[in-house]
Amino acid sequence: MYADIILDISHEKLDKTFQYRIPEEIAQKVAIGTMVRVPFGRGNREQAGYVTGLSDTPALPPEKIKPILSVDDGRVGPVSRMIELAAWLKDNYGSTMAQALKTVLPVKAKVTRRVKRTLVLACDRETAQTALDTFHRKHAVARERLLSALLSAGRLDCALAESKLNIQMSTMRDLEQMGLVDIEEQEAYRTGISPYKEAAGGRLSMNADQQRCVSAVLSDFDAGRTGTYLLYGVTGSGKTLCYLEMAGHMARAGRQSIVLIPEISLTFQTVRRFQEYFGERVAILHSRMSQGERYDTYLRAMKGEVDVVVGPRSALFVPLPKVGLIVIDEEQEESYASEVSPRYHARETAQHIADTMHASLVLGSATPSLTSFYRAKTGKYRLLTLPSRATEQTLPSVGVADMREELRKGNRTPLSLELAQKIQDRLERGEQTMLFLNRRGYLGHFACYSCGKPVKCPHCDVAMTLHVQGGHRWLSCHYCGYTSPVPRICPACGSPHVGGMRAGTENIEAQVKRIFPEARVLRMDADTTSGKDGHERILSAFANHEADILVGTQMIVKGHDFPDVTLVGIVNADLSLFAPDYRAPERTFDLLVQAAGRAGRGRRPGEVVIQTYSPDNYTIKAAARQDYEAFYAQEIAYRKLLGYPPVKSMLKILLSSCDNQRLSACAEAVGEAVRCSIAGKPEADCTGPASDVIARIKDSWRQVICVRSPSRSDLILVKDLVDARLCGDPGYDKIFVQYQFDD
Ligand code: ADP
Ligand code: ZN
Ligand code: ZN
Repeated sequence: MYADIILDISHEKLDKTFQYRIPEEIAQKVAIGTMVRVPFGRGNREQAGYVTGLSDTPALPPEKIKPILSVDDGRVGPVSRMIELAAWLKDNYGSTMAQALKTVLPVKAKVTRRVKRTLVLACDRETAQTALDTFHRKHAVARERLLSALLSAGRLDCALAESKLNIQMSTMRDLEQMGLVDIEEQEAYRTGISPYKEAAGGRLSMNADQQRCVSAVLSDFDAGRTGTYLLYGVTGSGKTLCYLEMAGHMARAGRQSIVLIPEISLTFQTVRRFQEYFGERVAILHSRMSQGERYDTYLRAMKGEVDVVVGPRSALFVPLPKVGLIVIDEEQEESYASEVSPRYHARETAQHIADTMHASLVLGSATPSLTSFYRAKTGKYRLLTLPSRATEQTLPSVGVADMREELRKGNRTPLSLELAQKIQDRLERGEQTMLFLNRRGYLGHFACYSCGKPVKCPHCDVAMTLHVQGGHRWLSCHYCGYTSPVPRICPACGSPHVGGMRAGTENIEAQVKRIFPEARVLRMDADTTSGKDGHERILSAFANHEADILVGTQMIVKGHDFPDVTLVGIVNADLSLFAPDYRAPERTFDLLVQAAGRAGRGRRPGEVVIQTYSPDNYTIKAAARQDYEAFYAQEIAYRKLLGYPPVKSMLKILLSSCDNQRLSACAEAVGEAVRCSIAGKPEADCTGPASDVIARIKDSWRQVICVRSPSRSDLILVKDLVDARLCGDPGYDKIFVQYQFDD
């Protein structure tokens, strides 16, 4: 027998299968997906690889085919479905097969099994009592302590006996030898989460809206029809209960569910609700899990011991035997798009898995991505709506504070008088406030503090970004690469108050403490949440009312319920609104609505203040009214006008190299080739090459080329063409390419 093997090396030239002979003695252990070690290259260096196919016929004269050296145990082999999935990722998003395989097989480290040991009494109580007396007389204190603890507890976890009673394993073994105790061994799964507790209040029953949505999905499924559904429900409308009920139905039908939730919410309330509902039958994945914990989750899933997997986008690759439902909660979240090759999107990948597994796909959101709402409007997805909150709470009232006015009044603090007054009221009433600062990345757009207008690129409809490097300051456009000197006055109104919009959470925290010296302030951002339980620590402290004000980045706006929060302040909505990206308004609208959704989750009504220098902007206006559909109507009109996704698909080709000259030449040539290839297609267009948003990372220069076309398959052809072009030419061997599709 022969095996086709993909080497575990990321290099385009090695991105094909090599045939190896399977020696008799390991034939039993080799299957598709097995990880093996093989000799490779002239020096026959030992190299890891994955088996992707098996055959009886040699491709070369048999004596020329090298044998597999060994099977790499201790790794989860993928089922063959996962290999197909890897091939699909490679073809659709562009990557090497090895990278794609790594994506679907997240276990890389060798892992050791762990065993849970429990002590139980091996004799009757009288014998034990006699032994206890003997130990006492002989001053065998450790034995006495152990046996008496076991007598009163009945069973005793060995690890606990070691840590809490300070008893060594050898002592336990001694008692076992004496026939007094038995040590039971059982494989322990590492779940990485604390054991669930039964819900105190019993299960909720669905309201009429929830029932309508859930039964739409389930009755289709039971009738053998699967589909893609957009569950569009305002914040607090009870989408989670819908997911629970759907997954419960699947479990009863012998099918499993995958529920994706944003990484940020993975440690908190949503997870707890799944644990309360499914108990031991739910598995949670998150990025801070150890490899061992991850491995155990895979094993449990493969053995059919779980009904539901909850996790970030990588949970799509848990090899469940028979997936019936995939849910993507907060489907508009950016974290569903991978940032490394293959740069897959969870939504499209889930669609592919759902199609091949005959499963249903449910996308949930209060502020759907433009793409999904567009698809729902055009009939590609079925739209299900939850129009109101599930509890008595009303949606919060939202006000807009015009920061240009504040400046005119002489207020130079980051808090408007309106917001400051409202915070003061909360402090007096013993209620809580959240202040949200949506600072993304480390670059800021350049704008006027008086009229609020950002300085825009003359060739593109995006704000210019301020760059500071070695005493030089300049503005640059990240779409076309146009640069200009930093203006001293606003080009629109002539005000001298212009500058880069940068204000960190730390700065806000300091100012808030200065304005309200008596307030207890907590800060939550990437700096304060490092460490395993960083998030949970701060959020619990805030939930326990150990602080009056929580200042933070987007981390604080996603999916947490704080009943005492009655005020949410958005410090500067413009920070993300004018980010150099066509999705900036969409993301800003989402953040503003999510942030507003944090206010008034308890009995008291909530209030929201959005601070902005552009109160007339349609995104801000729609967010203030919490009116998604008004925002959608405006934004989709722009996208249509400019030919951006979802109206057209977009492919971003990112070329990078340490050699800037070579990179420029290569980018020009690639750009030319792409333009040629789309020449006959009037609907398609290509821009670039231009410097990427970050022109250089770790000494590597970056150039981007953007291609847009109504046909996704045309873009895949473009990708294949670029691949072929770069692979053939030795002049390009120091150039790296990455692809990013946007739909
Ligand atoms: P969403 O995810 O849509 O924002 P959640 O699922 O977090 O909303 O639900 C919001 C709140 O409404 C939660 O506190 C939840 O317990 C409550 N809730 C949901 N469904 C019901 C129901 N049918 N009856 C009573 N309370 C409900
Ligand atoms: Zn101005
Ligand atoms: Zn430009």
